[in-house]
Amino acid sequence: MTESRKIPYKIYLEEQEVPTRWYNVRADMKNKPFPLVNPGTGKPMTFEELTPVFCDELVEQELDNETPYFSIPQEIQDYYKTFRPSPLIRAYNLEKALGTPAHIYCKFEGNNTSGSHKLNSASAQAYYAKKQGLKGVTTETGAGQWGTALSMACAYFGLDCKVFMVKVSYEQKPFRREVMRTYGASVTPSPSMETEIGRKINAEYPGTTGSLGCAISEAVEVAVSNPGYRYVLGSVLNQVLLHQSVIGLEAKAACDKYGIKPDIIVGCAGGGSNLGGLIAPFMGEKLRGEQDYRIIAVEPASCPSFTRGVYAYDFCDTGMITPLAKMYTLGSGFIPSPNHAGGLRFHGMSPVLSQLYHDGYMEAVSVEQTSVFEAAELFARTEGILPAPESSHAIRTAIDEALKCKETGEEKTILFGLTGTGYFDLKAYEAYNDGRMTDEIPTDEELQKSIAALPKVNIEE
Ligand SMILES: *Cc1c(COP(=O)(O)O)cnc(C)c1O
Repeated sequence: MTESRKIPYKIYLEEQEVPTRWYNVRADMKNKPFPLVNPGTGKPMTFEELTPVFCDELVEQELDNETPYFSIPQEIQDYYKTFRPSPLIRAYNLEKALGTPAHIYCKFEGNNTSGSHKLNSASAQAYYAKKQGLKGVTTETGAGQWGTALSMACAYFGLDCKVFMVKVSYEQKPFRREVMRTYGASVTPSPSMETEIGRKINAEYPGTTGSLGCAISEAVEVAVSNPGYRYVLGSVLNQVLLHQSVIGLEAKAACDKYGIKPDIIVGCAGGGSNLGGLIAPFMGEKLRGEQDYRIIAVEPASCPSFTRGVYAYDFCDTGMITPLAKMYTLGSGFIPSPNHAGGLRFHGMSPVLSQLYHDGYMEAVSVEQTSVFEAAELFARTEGILPAPESSHAIRTAIDEALKCKETGEEKTILFGLTGTGYFDLKAYEAYNDGRMTDEIPTDEELQKSIAALPKVNIEE
């Protein structure tokens, strides 16, 4: 038995080792992320301006850049027990197939019915809405992962859940829709005739198949015009990164238990929530000067916010109704070509990660779709888990780093986030298996066009 074999294939924490607090990385950042700004006044959004849209306690979490730890309420811990702790997997079989001296670990978040890490924040958001005595929440969903996670959490905490699902996904992904309805959510194809904005868009663009930006506008309209409802969002926001820190805290506890120290930490980045959560405690050590880690964000070449975007204030939605966030962005008018990783098609990036990237605490790479599916195929065949296309971006980069170690002979430790499973993405696998998958990369001209249209507001920084 070699030394490394002492590390089990899957590391599960014991119940008493599971984190009971979330970690707020903003507390350790010298340069704090920029605040959300009201596009009308150019001033930071206040608690009073945010609470008609979001739950009170979530707004408090959103605005708090100082408190390092938040206790996870017992009710949420109890629900977490149905799907957490998640395993830290040592990808022995993948290492062997690659012939690399590197040690590869992944934190697997796909072991729940919604199939992704999104349930970590959905449970928190549903809990606080219930605690505030609200009747329900509204949201949008594109590919459907977030809507599924939210309907599960709302069923558990006893809340009404209204999901606006982009019409094209509603029609093409009937299975996700039925999972949501099974958990009691109402699922409306967007644009709908139920909202003012939906009726307007349907009149202007008859037969439109919708967009995420439009679904956000509908969900926000329903939340603010119905007493007892609030809007919830599955990524990008500071509060979502806070809830997702449970991923990193568990991963760190498992690493510490076995004396594992990652050299490189890799995660896919759409709006930044899984990566922000995975790296949180490691980044905290880095910010406090206690340890060093190489941290790599992986994004699709078709939607390269970090690697080709600009750091500027922008809207979070295409409909331009949300507050402005300072983030790496391609411009809210940027529509990525229809790639197969729906969760990575957001034009912007979490303000927390944007600031950390801007300050040089992390790197970013972009990868092309076909190479991502090659990595997914190898991972599925060696480790058995069918990965989500989003997660496979991180697999691609983890493999690339492991192959570099093979050349140099370095025995580095690589940790990556395996955010979910790909059972609802078999259309994408079909395109790959049929050899019909293409790599769409926006031209500089296309990007310049959407970046030139960034909002021009006088912001009091
Ligand atoms: C939504 C999603 C992502 C991307 O979202 P982030 O907020 O960037 O984490 C990644 N993987 C899966 C499986 C998802 O569902």
